[in-house]
Amino acid sequence: MHSELKKLLPLKTLLGSKGWVEDTNIIEPHLIEERGLYKGKSDLLLKPINTNEVSNILKLCNEHNIKIVPQGGRTGLCGGTIPSDTGLEVMLSLERMNKINDFNEENFTITVEAGCILGNIQDKAEKKNLLFPLSLASEGSCTIGGNLSTNAGGINVLRYGMARDLVLGIEVVLADGQIWNNLTGLRKDNRGYDLKQLFIGSEGTLGIITKAVLKLFPSPSNIETALFAVPNTQAAVELLGLARSVSTDLLNAYELISRLGLEMVLKNIPNTKDPIKDKYKWYVLLEFSSSSKNSMRAQMETLFEMALKKNIVCDGVIAESSQQRKELWVLRDGLNEAQKPEGGSIKHDVSIPINNVSKFINNATIQVEKFVPDSRVVAFGHIGDGNIHFNISQPIKSNKSEFLEKWESVNKIVFNIVNDLNGSFSAEHGIGKLKREELKLYNPEIEVSLMRSIKNTFDPKNILNPGKVL
Ligand SMILES: Cc1cc2nc3c(=O)[nH]c(=O)nc-3n(C[C@H](O)[C@H](O)[C@H](O)COP(=O)(O)OP(=O)(O)OC[C@H]3O[C@@H](n4cnc5c(N)ncnc54)[C@H](O)[C@@H]3O)c2cc1C
Repeated sequence: MHSELKKLLPLKTLLGSKGWVEDTNIIEPHLIEERGLYKGKSDLLLKPINTNEVSNILKLCNEHNIKIVPQGGRTGLCGGTIPSDTGLEVMLSLERMNKINDFNEENFTITVEAGCILGNIQDKAEKKNLLFPLSLASEGSCTIGGNLSTNAGGINVLRYGMARDLVLGIEVVLADGQIWNNLTGLRKDNRGYDLKQLFIGSEGTLGIITKAVLKLFPSPSNIETALFAVPNTQAAVELLGLARSVSTDLLNAYELISRLGLEMVLKNIPNTKDPIKDKYKWYVLLEFSSSSKNSMRAQMETLFEMALKKNIVCDGVIAESSQQRKELWVLRDGLNEAQKPEGGSIKHDVSIPINNVSKFINNATIQVEKFVPDSRVVAFGHIGDGNIHFNISQPIKSNKSEFLEKWESVNKIVFNIVNDLNGSFSAEHGIGKLKREELKLYNPEIEVSLMRSIKNTFDPKNILNPGKVL
């Protein structure tokens, strides 16, 4: 073990064999980013079981100036959980802190430890006929601590907001080991600055989140799902407004799918079929949901008729059964997987004000196709909240590595257009190691400088997740 990390040996007895890990077989997967983009070095992994243990770890690290890399489910895609290659950093996994502490049906809240798997929180709520609406494809392995630290989004943002909007209070261990308990469960609290929001989305650079009070909602008992073909992306934007008003704002999903993306799904994902006979360039998968007993079928049919009359929908299908609903969702959920067999893909997860989404997709497609002729733009995603996955698959029969060498130049083309349209180069996933340069380039200087001041205040010795975000 590196001599610096040996300074933490006084913690070994406190943490016990499950909390103090030197076994390289266990450590190895903690050093590699999901997509293999980053690999770090560290001989020590600490897995505390409670907040006091986290506090003791941070106290000693702060005293000896030892850097800490927090880890949840390690599903983040920006290298946020990967230590540097110096071997001087210790990894701190919250995975053993996975208890649900309190379930309060009257307050519509659940209090959980940071290492709770998101899917387990959803299941616990569902058993009481309640909903915790944060939902992402990684929900079987990501943790609530990671979700809050990255301000995760997913498919229900349109209706319920991002992780930031779903939390009422948190408990945090600060860089010097002090514990800040803000587990109030209050919906209204105007006692000065809202400090919890500083930790949310800070990717472990300001403190270690150890617990959270989360909002719950009545479980939707009525769901209506439809796939509508639209003539262009501007029609998809117009349809969004209509869908919100016809459903009395009970729209909970609104996802854009391109024909090219759909064709990749039909080709590469088994047991999928085209639900609409004719081919159209764009589709929207949308869903109404309500906790009332009354069906929303009539509203969905009204929307379909009104949109056909206005020529913003060309054709469509409304799910007749839960099986058909599942089949429609596979067409959306399979989009990422379906791009893999198509070779290299340059991906962007950006957000644009909804009124500029169509302009963004059109301009970015033209410019990218000009820069990489025959490249295949697959634009899709949460158009209801302005979040577009703008992915570019390599031209058919081209060389994958030659295509991927263009990654940075393509990024620049896409991010410049995003920036010109008042958008954000990072809608989800955060900054980590991957997007630090973009943060400097696109965020106003005053913002970056304020972020540095906050970092210096909370972590003056820079021991918390160094080299991430800033
Ligand atoms: C298939 C797939 C689909 C995904 N879909 C989405 C999506 O739709 N929307 C979305 O937003 N993201 C998505 N992600 C990214 C990822 O799942 C999310 O960022 C998730 O919130 C990370 O949770 P985690 O527990 O895995 O965190 P980790 O990856 O372990 O950590 C993420 C960051 O948070 C820090 N951190 C972790 N726990 C704590 C803590 N307790 N205190 C302080 N800092 C901490 C880490 O240091 C790191 O910087 C997806 C990833 C995959 C693999």
